[in-house]
Amino acid sequence: VKSLTKQFPLGKQWFKEKKVVRAVDDLNFSIQKGETFGLVGESGCGKSTTGRLINGLIKANEGEIIFDGENLADIPDRKWKDYRKRMQMIFQDPFASLSPRMKIKDIVMEPLEVHYPNMSKLEKQEKAKKLLEICGISHYHLNKYPHEFSGGQRQRISIARSLILNPELIIADEAVSALDVSIQSQVLNLLVDLQEEFNLTYLFISHDLSVVEHISDRIGVMYLGNLVEIATKEQLFKDPKHPYTQSLLSAVPQLGESKKERITLKGEIPSASNPPKGCKFHTRCPFAMDICKQKVPENRNIEEGHTVACHLYE
Ligand code: SF4
Ligand code: MG
Repeated sequence: VKSLTKQFPLGKQWFKEKKVVRAVDDLNFSIQKGETFGLVGESGCGKSTTGRLINGLIKANEGEIIFDGENLADIPDRKWKDYRKRMQMIFQDPFASLSPRMKIKDIVMEPLEVHYPNMSKLEKQEKAKKLLEICGISHYHLNKYPHEFSGGQRQRISIARSLILNPELIIADEAVSALDVSIQSQVLNLLVDLQEEFNLTYLFISHDLSVVEHISDRIGVMYLGNLVEIATKEQLFKDPKHPYTQSLLSAVPQLGESKKERITLKGEIPSASNPPKGCKFHTRCPFAMDICKQKVPENRNIEEGHTVACHLYE
């Protein structure tokens, strides 16, 4: 992802001056094949918009999304069909994304009807049955409807559906956020097993750092549309550099580290339609200096695989 930017118009446009929200503002990062890249930040920071841009559900204003050598920000709509097969999304609320009047076997095989109209019904059913079994839903339940399942089972059904076209990239947006903690880890473990079995790459979006820690190889931290820090999971949790990352981490209780100093942020998250100048975090940062109010900090590489955008490291 290179210089990716997405603006949304704001409210009614009866003023001469058009107001916009820069939901995603000049993002740069990459995801390696086979890895899990976690994207974390408070709600409204642009994580979901990033996922939807990569998946083509919405179009970017600027920037590139290079997938297997092709810039998806540039391709015509008709070519998107092929890429839709290769990347799939899983959402937070499986109840909203599973049609209530369809049997789960039909829900899971539906993408095949669209992409492989000539495949026989039997073959489609067999594929759906196999994937549901792999995802922990027995074939005894094939003819049941979504409301007959628990939240965790429904998420397993939507995961099975997301796999039916053999995708390479899965974009999971708050995929376990609606589930109880004990169920969360079961679903996360399922995703880890599936990654191995099907050679999947994940973009895993969540506001919850402990969930992101569980599953990610590398993590990007977002604040008001910017990626403020990117690091491996180990680097980020051992030695977070950006004051915002430090504050997020200090809010997560960790075993055996009860004495760790807690960084509490001043104030509320500013409105994305009118973000602070310079470093967007300066209104809440305990280390803010004069330069932070004037100048946008650039992304800097501070060690192999670890970048941070903060004037403290210049
Ligand atoms: Fe804080 Fe300044 Fe760093 Fe922004 S650039 S995070 S305000 S120290
Ligand atoms: Mg979101």
